[in-house]
Amino acid sequence: MNVKVKACKVCSKEKPLSEFYKDKKMADGHRNECKVCRKAKIAKWQQENPERRKVTVKEWANNNPEKKRAIRKAHSERFPEKQKAREVALYAIRSGKLIRGPCEICGATKVQAHHEDYSKPLDVNWLCIRHHIERHVEKRKEERIAKDNKNRNNLSRQGQSLRN
Ligand SMILES: [Zn+2]
Ligand SMILES: [Zn+2]
Ligand SMILES: [Zn+2]
Repeated sequence: MNVKVKACKVCSKEKPLSEFYKDKKMADGHRNECKVCRKAKIAKWQQENPERRKVTVKEWANNNPEKKRAIRKAHSERFPEKQKAREVALYAIRSGKLIRGPCEICGATKVQAHHEDYSKPLDVNWLCIRHHIERHVEKRKEERIAKDNKNRNNLSRQGQSLRN
């Protein structure tokens, strides 16, 4: 079989076409730089443009709805209580039991339901997307600190029992 090869314009190595990302705009339907070089370039670009990365992730999600759905599904399978809380809250909103309010921090009207505790699905904080993300960043930080403290306590307890 005749495997088509192509020289990467960045690293100059000859590689089979499968080592190049597809690009309809190119004459042979593939990019001129190999996957390895392309990945390196993207990684470098993301490092240099951290704030633009978010836009790209969003664009990617818009262009790949089924992949995004698969990721979300995997996520909800890993965090069933989170998914459950979301469903209960959504149902309560639809049936009028739960009424959307403005963002608790900035008053924006486009809000999402945030659960401080997933075991209380109707205990909801209304936050705009930006403040919702911020809250989760904060929460993750708090959880990390709590975990560190617990580890430290365990260590000092161990130390004590050694001394006793
Ligand atoms: Zn290359
Ligand atoms: Zn807000
Ligand atoms: Zn939340």
